[in-house]
Amino acid sequence: MNDTWSVEEHRDDILGAMRPLEPIELPLLDAAGCVLVDDVVVTAPLPPFDNSSMDGYAVRTADVETATDEYPAVLRVVGDIAAGSDTLPTVGPGEAARIMTGAPIPPGAQAVVPVEWTDGGTGGGPATGMNGRREHGPEVRVHRGAPARAFINGRGSDAATGAIALTAGTVIGPPQLGLLAALGHATALVRPRPRVVVLSTGSELTAPGRPLGPGQIHDSNGFMLTSAAQAAGAVAYRVAAVADDAPSLRAALDEQLVRADLVVTSGGVSVGAFDVVKEALAGEVDFRRVAMQPGKPQAFGLLGPDRVPLLGLPGNPVSAYVSFELFVRPALRALAGHAPEALDRPRVTARLVCEAPLTSPPGRRQYLRGTYSAEEGTVAPVGGSGSYLVASLARADALIEIPEAATAAEPGAVLTVVLLG
Ligand code: AMP
Ligand code: MG
Repeated sequence: MNDTWSVEEHRDDILGAMRPLEPIELPLLDAAGCVLVDDVVVTAPLPPFDNSSMDGYAVRTADVETATDEYPAVLRVVGDIAAGSDTLPTVGPGEAARIMTGAPIPPGAQAVVPVEWTDGGTGGGPATGMNGRREHGPEVRVHRGAPARAFINGRGSDAATGAIALTAGTVIGPPQLGLLAALGHATALVRPRPRVVVLSTGSELTAPGRPLGPGQIHDSNGFMLTSAAQAAGAVAYRVAAVADDAPSLRAALDEQLVRADLVVTSGGVSVGAFDVVKEALAGEVDFRRVAMQPGKPQAFGLLGPDRVPLLGLPGNPVSAYVSFELFVRPALRALAGHAPEALDRPRVTARLVCEAPLTSPPGRRQYLRGTYSAEEGTVAPVGGSGSYLVASLARADALIEIPEAATAAEPGAVLTVVLLG
């Protein structure tokens, strides 16, 4: 195999091993954000019946054809129809029924005139409701005509029986969820959210909230990567940091594999004396150099009898995060069934705004942290290139790519930018 991998070679090798997870039938709200497995065909029309789009009066068109302010049509009001009404009056010649938005169109009526085109039924003598409240009078005066079907939302006009409401591969967002509910579905057949176990390695790591002993640092990767996995649509489990001891790591992994569709580790993948992931998994997992900075050492393999993918990321927080965005996030989205073109973060080109040229190592693609302005079409670096710089990472919203061949990027250069969303 080649000694050094390009970013694309490493990414494609990982994606080549990802199989979308087996479909599962989930209650609607659990299916939110998931990818639909099959086309959803309309089996009953939407709306299910002709209904009024306005509060007004259901009428026969011939009765209101010549109505004007001066010569209104005077119609006898034969009933009140609310949304949900199941008994409907029949509207005969010279008659109207008061109707509310969403209520079924009664037999005989051909159109609805909005209440604003009428006197609101206040003419024609007293008619007082139960608690003394004035209801409609026995008559309504209509000032304008309405063509057939006016203000009627027709049965099946939104989705007709047999039509495809949603196509396979659709990501179920709130509107799609609303449509499924409107169609009467209580569940959806989707790819489940991938379950991800995030495991930090390093004997120097202490949980946030605990005081630091000599030489210790807080485990930031565990939290950052778990949160990144959640943001990528996964169900993520953070495991307490494991010390640089191969048997302990092996035991922790064996225990976690049962609940993982993918494992992400951080730290211990380079060539130091305590590179624990390498020590524990050599032979099972491939340790490779990727032509990038940060993020050169990377590990990838399939673990255990279930061949659970493991992505081993380098430990520096910026390296780990950049690696997550470039390799782990696409892998998670592939497991979730997203289309090939929807796996990666969006990329744009932008003009580099900085005072001095930025330097970049030869033969490696550099990913600098930056802030992107869509209005200006520019990107500015944030902090330096050091991969320990987690504070500047926290101020960035983009990664600036400096190509492998370049050793510098001049102010004003047009570069590719990965938008972190
Ligand atoms: P490693 O890849 O294990 O050699 O780690 C490289 C650097 O990243 C070291 O300075 C580690 O202390 C640091 N590091 C490793 N894991 C973490 C972590 N989970 N949180 C914060 N820093 C880490
Ligand atoms: Mg380490």
